[in-house]
Formats: sequence, C-alpha cells, structure tokens
Amino acid sequence: MASPKAPIGTRDILPPESSRWEALIATFAQLMGGAGYGLVQSPAFEDLSVFQRIGEGTDLVRKEMYEFEDKSGRHLALRPEGTASIARAFIQHRPTTPWKVWYAAPSFRYERPQAGRYRQHHQLGAEAVGSLDPDLDVEVIALAWDLFASLGLRRVVLLVNTMGDPGDREPYMERLSAYLEKHRGDLADEDRKKAAEHPLRVLDSNRAATRDVVRDAPRLPDHVSGDAVAHFERVQAGLGALEIPFVIEPLLVRGLDYYTRTTFELQASALDTAQDAIGGGGRYDGLVEALGGPPTPGIGFALGIERILLACNAEDTFGVSDTSVEVFVVDVAGGESARDLVAELRRGGIAADRAFDQRSMKAQMKSADRAGARLALIVGPDELSSGTVTVRDLEGGDQEVVARADALDRVRKTLS
Ligand code: AMP
Repeated sequence: MASPKAPIGTRDILPPESSRWEALIATFAQLMGGAGYGLVQSPAFEDLSVFQRIGEGTDLVRKEMYEFEDKSGRHLALRPEGTASIARAFIQHRPTTPWKVWYAAPSFRYERPQAGRYRQHHQLGAEAVGSLDPDLDVEVIALAWDLFASLGLRRVVLLVNTMGDPGDREPYMERLSAYLEKHRGDLADEDRKKAAEHPLRVLDSNRAATRDVVRDAPRLPDHVSGDAVAHFERVQAGLGALEIPFVIEPLLVRGLDYYTRTTFELQASALDTAQDAIGGGGRYDGLVEALGGPPTPGIGFALGIERILLACNAEDTFGVSDTSVEVFVVDVAGGESARDLVAELRRGGIAADRAFDQRSMKAQMKSADRAGARLALIVGPDELSSGTVTVRDLEGGDQEVVARADALDRVRKTLS
C-alpha cells in the first residue's frame, strides 16, 4: 500500500516554519487584546444552514463547502469562513455590545489548489458586532493595517468601497442586470449564466472580456443612500486621520452576499496577482438578522495566514529565529544528571533540552549546536563524582567548572 500523504490542497506546517506561525498568531493576539478584543474558539463545523445563509449565490456556498451528514443524519459543514460562526455564536450567547472578538482558525474550501490557495487555509479574524459607528470600521481596518506594518510589510495596498444598505441593492441590481443584459454578447462565456443569476458576482470576474464590459457598468457607490454615503465619507476621513493610505475601488464587492456599506481588501503587491489578497472584510449589518437573531450591525475582517507569510517571504521580513533552547545538557555519565538538570532549568524559567539514548559526547555536542543553545552544561564521570558541572559557552568556547548546586544561578548570570 502506498504510504499516506496529506490530502490534496492541505499541508503540514512543520518546525522550523511553524515557529513563524506561532509568532504571527502571538503578534495578532497581542494586538487584538490590546484593542479590547477577546478570543473566540468556535467549532470547526456548524449546521449547514449557518453557512448557507451567507450567500446562496456564491461559489463558496454552492461549490466549495465540505458538507456532510453525521451518523444521526444531521446536515453539517466544515467552516468555509469565520464570520458566520461568530454571528451564530452572538445569537446564541447574546453578549453585551459592541462584542469585539478575534479568532485564529482553519477554513475549508474545496477550491482548485495552487500556490497560495489551499483546501484548508488558516485565517486571523476580527469581528465587532453591535455598532453602526463608522469609527468602528476605521478601528477594524486600522488593526489589520497595523498588523501588517508591525510584521514589516511595506507593499500592502488597501482597497475600500461601499456597498450601501440592503434597500439600495435592489434598484441597483436592476440597473446592473439591464446593463449586463445589453452587453451579454461581450461577456466571457463563463460569466453569461452568472450575469443572469447573480449579476453582482460578475463585477469581480477576472476574465478579460468581462472586465472590459464591467468597466463602464453602473457603479454601486453611485447608487447608495445618503446615509451610506455619509458613513463612507466618515470612514475615509478616519483612515486619513490615521495616515492609512487607501484606494477607492468601486468594483470591490467581495465574495459573499452579506456585505453592506464598507468593504475592503488588502493586497500584497509583492505577491503574484492571482493570489495577492492577504485579507479582506467589511460590514455585514444584515447577517445576524438573516441567521435568525435581532437586527444587529457588525464589521470584521479575515486575513490569510499562509498568504501573509508568503508576502513576508517576498518582502524578506518577519524572520523568526528558530532557536528556542538556551541551554543544552550533555550527560555522558548515566543520564540522571541530564534528567534532573533540564527539569531544574525549565522550572527555573530557562529553555533547556538534552539528548536521549546515551549518545556519545560528540553526538550530544552536535545536538547542542543544532539546537542553537548558548550554553552547554556538561556532566561526565569526573563531574559526577565531584558534584560539579562544566559550563561551556558555545559561542566563545570558554568554560568553567561550578558546583552542581550553583549551576542554575551560574546559567542565569551568564545568560543575563
Ligand atoms: P475571504 O473570506 O475569501 O476574503 O478570505 C479571507 C482571506 O483568507 C483572503 O484574503 C486570503 O488571504 C485568505 N484565503 C482565502 N481563501 C484561501 C485559500 N483557498 N487558500 C489560502 N488562503 C486563502
């Protein structure tokens, strides 16, 4: 039998690469915690209906969901994105508003895998539920922007748009449909059916013929209510005040049906254009109600961890050293000293490791090097019988013999 492999479109994140994941999630957690957002862990699967509500017309719901029936015949789906789960949790638990939360979680989409596109990818998300204040839009966008800045990413482009309110949508859709119908012959073949069924989805098509048609189509921001226009102006003023550069992109409609008013996307220009979206988000003022909750506005974003790290590679930034061990204990006198010393060091707050299986001195010193340790604590038969430890500086090569009982103190002093 062929040996098993990770399923197509998924991958293992192994050390040392995984240390960048850890560092990225820790950076994000700190940023969000510092802005009053708390962590939500929601299930990786939900009732299918939770996700169906986010967009009947979208490829995400129609074609890309991992749906299944459990052994009792319940219809479930793996989470294809994070916002619907948060909205469901909001309805279920009724927290006080604004409810500001973040998550770091996998999303599952049956997409065609390629560089930067996976069937299981991982998102850093933020959601602020329960306020219509445009300054909250600014806060949310600024958090995503500041995360990228803190990673050292410089080539990030922020696109913003307004999609107006649900009441604006229908008259606009009529205009758009009429326009697309008139130009039906010029659309890319693949987009013709879509134009009739889900005209909005045609606006972000990447097919050249369709893009030519769409360029002169009626634009959503020109057909939204005065309230939505004022909201969008306040968001732009806020971004300006926070010195966050942005580009207004009237064709940015995002992939899901639930978006209202502010939408945005962050692109990494260091990446290949096909997969350069490193994050996106927007308002979803009708989503909670659509899921059966009280009318409640909300705004959030999701950023793709894989793509963020690809962008960091492309910009040669956010390098994380994979050295996690400060001290390596080398024991060629039976192993008890290594067993006890690493425990003592670790309990004393010092990152320490050791070799196993009674390896030779040479092999253990090699492991110490590979672990990137600053110091080696060496115990051979002489040290064992005299109750001492040899402390060797692996960078400078100096070494000294100290009493076993003073080893922790000596290590602390040397490391500080
Ligand atoms: P979306 O909800 O589609 O805007 O996704 C949010 C972010 O997740 C995107 O901006 C990407 O960075 C990332 N993302 C979405 N789909 C994938 C995928 N299939 N593989 C890797 N990253 C993805």
